[in-house]
Amino acid sequence: MKLDATDLRYITADEFRVLTAVEMGSKNHEVVPTVLIAQISGLRNGGVNKLIGSLAKRNLVSKVQNSKYDGYRLTYGGYDFLAMRAMSKRDTMHSVGNQIGVGKESDIYIVADAEGNEMVLKLHRLGRISFRAIKEKRDYLGKRKSASWMYMSRLAAQKEWAFMKVLHEHDFPVPRPIDQARHCILMEFIDAYPLRQISEVPSPGKLYSTLMDLIVRFAHAGLIHGDFNEFNILIRRESGIPIVIDFPQMVSTSHENAEWYFNRDVECIRTFFKRRFRYESALYPRFKSTMSEDGVATGDFRLDVMVSASGFKQKDMKILEEYMEAVQLDGSEGSEDESEDDSSDESQAEDPGEESRQNDETSALVEDPPEQAGEDELSDPPRSL
Ligand code: ADP
Ligand code: MG
Repeated sequence: MKLDATDLRYITADEFRVLTAVEMGSKNHEVVPTVLIAQISGLRNGGVNKLIGSLAKRNLVSKVQNSKYDGYRLTYGGYDFLAMRAMSKRDTMHSVGNQIGVGKESDIYIVADAEGNEMVLKLHRLGRISFRAIKEKRDYLGKRKSASWMYMSRLAAQKEWAFMKVLHEHDFPVPRPIDQARHCILMEFIDAYPLRQISEVPSPGKLYSTLMDLIVRFAHAGLIHGDFNEFNILIRRESGIPIVIDFPQMVSTSHENAEWYFNRDVECIRTFFKRRFRYESALYPRFKSTMSEDGVATGDFRLDVMVSASGFKQKDMKILEEYMEAVQLDGSEGSEDESEDDSSDESQAEDPGEESRQNDETSALVEDPPEQAGEDELSDPPRSL
């Protein structure tokens, strides 16, 4: 979807009022009746019709003819507009450039501030896939079901923002978070390639250790990334330093399935290094050895606790988790593991050689037990939910 930031400056105060009224009305109505829009916006009925017509022409709202009544729905475009306008009002964002990514559940754009400094805008798009799976599950959304794509996308952005902030404040290698509004996050642009696109590195062993150490560092601080893979690790173009992105699925180490998530992150890296760099190590971190004996994170600070205290509620965390779980079980998410593509990548990747294979300076890693315990468990989804 094309974003148009120039439009942001050309909306009238009344149009904006009407657009906001449609957003507010959609909290309780799948299709917001025109009379309600008039009521919320506090404008006369006749005036509203004209304003809403011009919003519809710009695809910020869309008209829905119902058997019971006519009304309007806020579109993705309308929601994007409201979020970008909020940022533009706060002067964090000024113009929109090219789209650089279409994720499963997000769109990524290069944007700029008034001085032309480049940043990244991530627009969450939960619900693009389908809510079929969720609807089959219990109806935890209640009345909100109608506005679910908006609601879930906003929750994802709020969660990602909360985590990115505490991680950045504690010197984890993540993009600097700049602003958040509705379903959008504004962050530092990282000049990098995703690890996924890299066929050769100077020392796979060293990178492997750095990434495993990072998983351990997360865990010491009470966190598990939950989607720690070659798509979400960016390798800086200049320095080769890895930067981690994409946090809506992070979990606390006190989550009941923490060990499962932890192992999955570790396994993603091991599998990728085996396939791409033909690098395999007997050393990799174990969840239990990163925790104290009674299973508590051992670091000096607990970022999971800080996030709960930051205003992102446990209840919201749970709702989001159930959504993600449902989408994954639905299987409609389109596998990230395109093996066809991988094999051609592999043929180009060079053998890293004996030297780097032995280059395992991994302080926090422990020995692989003789039999690969837990392999089967890894393919099972978490039990709960
Ligand atoms: P999704 O949740 O859809 O996977 P991500 O946050 O992983 O979204 O971003 C998708 C892609 O966009 C990344 O793989 C990366 O190529 C690019 N990207 C995301 N954030 C940044 C950033 N801060 N700097 C540079 N590129 C980014
Ligand atoms: Mg991603």
